[in-house]
Amino acid sequence: MTKEINKINCDIAIIGAGAAGMMCAIEAGKRGRKTILLDHSTKIGRKILISGGGRCNFTNTGTSPDAFLSENKHFCRSALSRYTPENFIALVKKHQISYHHKKLGQLFCDGSAQNIVDLLLKECEEANVQINSACKINKINKDKHFYIETNQGIFVSESLVIATGGLSIPQIGATGFGYEIAKQFDLNIVTTAPALVGLSLKKQDLNELKELSGLSIDTLVECNKKSFRENILFTHVGLSGPAILQISLYWRQNNSIYIDLLPEIDTISWLSQKKHENPNIELKNILSEILPKRFVDKFCYLYAPSKPIKQIDDKTLKDYANFLKTWTITPANLIGYEKAEVTRGGVDTDELSSQTMESKKVSGLYFIGEVVDVTGQLGGYNFQWAWASGFCAGQYV
Ligand SMILES: Cc1cc2nc3c(=O)[nH]c(=O)nc-3n(C[C@H](O)[C@H](O)[C@H](O)COP(=O)(O)OP(=O)(O)OC[C@H]3O[C@@H](n4cnc5c(N)ncnc54)[C@H](O)[C@@H]3O)c2cc1C
Repeated sequence: MTKEINKINCDIAIIGAGAAGMMCAIEAGKRGRKTILLDHSTKIGRKILISGGGRCNFTNTGTSPDAFLSENKHFCRSALSRYTPENFIALVKKHQISYHHKKLGQLFCDGSAQNIVDLLLKECEEANVQINSACKINKINKDKHFYIETNQGIFVSESLVIATGGLSIPQIGATGFGYEIAKQFDLNIVTTAPALVGLSLKKQDLNELKELSGLSIDTLVECNKKSFRENILFTHVGLSGPAILQISLYWRQNNSIYIDLLPEIDTISWLSQKKHENPNIELKNILSEILPKRFVDKFCYLYAPSKPIKQIDDKTLKDYANFLKTWTITPANLIGYEKAEVTRGGVDTDELSSQTMESKKVSGLYFIGEVVDVTGQLGGYNFQWAWASGFCAGQYV
């Protein structure tokens, strides 16, 4: 006797119960649509839980399309204007979650990221959203409806929303599922890569610099016409810290990055003045006034043998100043998806409506959140994109 397969009918099936998927489900549920969220993970919202160092940087009050990278830089504009940081802040306030502004418009929970997961679960419950965790998706077919074959039966839906995120942090369940579904339906994918991640250094550079591991310096880092004024951190494999994570979004193989180690200072004027005021002082003592001693020792050892500044001619002093203003380094690579906060690239925005997130080719099929080729800089922008794209799709599914 053949076992009867469990068939579950719904209006909307959403695959991926992360930030975007839950927001979409809430909005669709509020419209009275029978909505089911499917996630292969046993625990909901794992990425939210580890975000922002466990406090979830849930939005950025300065959100604008300029903070996002996409092949079509205008695509995110509509969604971001229809669901703003203020909209999400109102939700946070409604749930009486206390939060604070850290820097540069970044808002974090005072307590734990669990507050945000609880908020989303509560809203899902109020909107009658059904959540099926530990749901393994085996196959998707489409005729008039979508048929989602899983270990929990076949879900039959009018609309299918793919909210499975990117490839970052496979340890907690990230997969390339969304890209596979896009390919199955013949949608183009913009090449993906890890982003908001550290950079590894070439062997020789690493040998010279690895002793600096753990050291952090306030800098201005530039690459491909983008620059970020934040800290860099030396690590045992290369460079990290907020400025490097930001620039990793714009760095491409073989590009050099330019690091201004003294962003506040007109270095050549400053060194010349020091030489004039106190000619017997050693270069490393001057530099140690404003740079960490460990870095200065290394710099002097490698490039600028320390001696009384009066013994350094003006041209050489200028070379040193230039070095400190535009330290040029060509990283070996991005560290990888295991450490990356996000995945850049993804489902080509040319394939989607910027109003609804629906596929232009396949009616009823939607892509939202990180799986789409819209990637935010560090600072709460990626959640804002997840909320906004999820909200917009939720009005139409
Ligand atoms: C360490 C870290 C810290 C971060 N901190 C911040 C921050 O503070 N602020 C910020 O804005 N952004 C942050 N981000 C980025 C942010 O978490 C993501 O951009 C955001 O979660 C994307 O939302 P999403 O809903 O598109 O995908 P996700 O939140 O990744 O959700 C995808 C869901 O799909 C499920 N899934 C995947 N594959 C399958 C499959 N085959 N079958 C079924 N289900 C599947 C996953 O289990 C998951 O629940 C951080 C990321 C990391 C890794």
